[in-house]
Amino acid sequence: MKRIKALLRFPPNRAGKPITYHLVKDYDLRINILHAEVAANRVGVLVMDVEGQEEAIDGATRFVRDEGVEFHIVESAVSWDRDRCIDCGACTAVCPSGALSLDQKDWSLVFTPADCFVCESCLKACPMRAIAPAIGGTPAS
Ligand code: SF4
Ligand code: SF4
Repeated sequence: MKRIKALLRFPPNRAGKPITYHLVKDYDLRINILHAEVAANRVGVLVMDVEGQEEAIDGATRFVRDEGVEFHIVESAVSWDRDRCIDCGACTAVCPSGALSLDQKDWSLVFTPADCFVCESCLKACPMRAIAPAIGGTPAS
């Protein structure tokens, strides 16, 4: 059995595709959705834990790609540049996982990479461009 964290990015014309249904039914994968931002006619993002046989995950990856949806294996959290950060807290308001928070003692930003599931909401929220994407090991895109 293999377990990965995957980020799927849907183009606007693919947002309504029942991708996860097929991953479960056709590839016998166990899916745990960590974050979903999918709406009709907009770019959508889905982050999920995927568990299954290695061949099944490979087949599912090809299926997703053939459907016109990007498939990235997430190997690391976003990266945060302490030197650029001014501790404004804007990123904490949009972080759904709690990976970004403010220290209650001195209100400095605390980043916990292990809790990040790479939804990338914080990238747009940061006025200092102190957070950068970090997607690695992409067998399909
Ligand atoms: S990408 Fe940013 S907003 Fe999303 S979970 Fe990670 S730290 Fe939080
Ligand atoms: S939004 Fe940017 S500058 Fe503000 S606390 Fe977050 S990382 Fe730091």
